[in-house]
Amino acid sequence: MPLSFRPAAASETGPVREINEDAAYASGRLLVLADGVGGAAHGEVASSTTELVMRRIDQRQLEGGVLDVLAAAVLETRDVLETAARMGGGLDEMSTTLVAVLTDGAQIGLAHVGDSRAYLLGASGLQRLTRDHTWVQDLVDEGSITAEQAREHPYRSVVTRALDGKQHAEPDLAVVDAGPGDRLLVCSDGVSDYLDEDIIAAALAEGAVDTAAAALVARAIEAGTRDNVTAVVADVVDEPPEEPVPPVLVGAALDREH
Ligand code: CA
Repeated sequence: MPLSFRPAAASETGPVREINEDAAYASGRLLVLADGVGGAAHGEVASSTTELVMRRIDQRQLEGGVLDVLAAAVLETRDVLETAARMGGGLDEMSTTLVAVLTDGAQIGLAHVGDSRAYLLGASGLQRLTRDHTWVQDLVDEGSITAEQAREHPYRSVVTRALDGKQHAEPDLAVVDAGPGDRLLVCSDGVSDYLDEDIIAAALAEGAVDTAAAALVARAIEAGTRDNVTAVVADVVDEPPEEPVPPVLVGAALDREH
């Protein structure tokens, strides 16, 4: 059974930030979201560079399993960011999160670094697929604070892992147990920090994928998000990817193309 994605994406700078440092890309076999960190430190360069490297991988023949491809893609991204960081001019301070979901037609794999998230909406409801690489998530796991307290915590944006030109952050890699009829969401913390999971589940279930992506972004803005807001939504289908694959670009990824 050949699995592929029918994706859509929506992204807004939001009411507070001056530029959109989120970059996203979606095609019939790859969903990518990168959330750049640090205004003066060119977060949008880090995120759109990451998205561009991942997009290059989408244009190649996949060799090996999905997790091997994703692990190699993260290494390649780190190399490119390291090269950019050596150019100085603040680029050595830039960093980004990454969530990438890839299918080779047989399996679906997930790679994750930072505090962007992936969710699966299936027959048993909404399931979060990623664990935030943040200091407050560590506190939640220790039992020091609750998940609700984490969402309001003043240090909630402190990430313990990010892709940059310095630290060799390892991704969390996992096979995703999803199939036809399931819907995937990849989003930046501008969405997940501001919406309860029941609201995310309801918005994600709203109509077609483009309607759901727009609904998630709209709900986060209504909820008073102070961040860039990006949602990539994809239905898992048992059809080969559409050829030619019409890629969806949003945020800093789209800005770079113009
Ligand atoms: Ca963000």
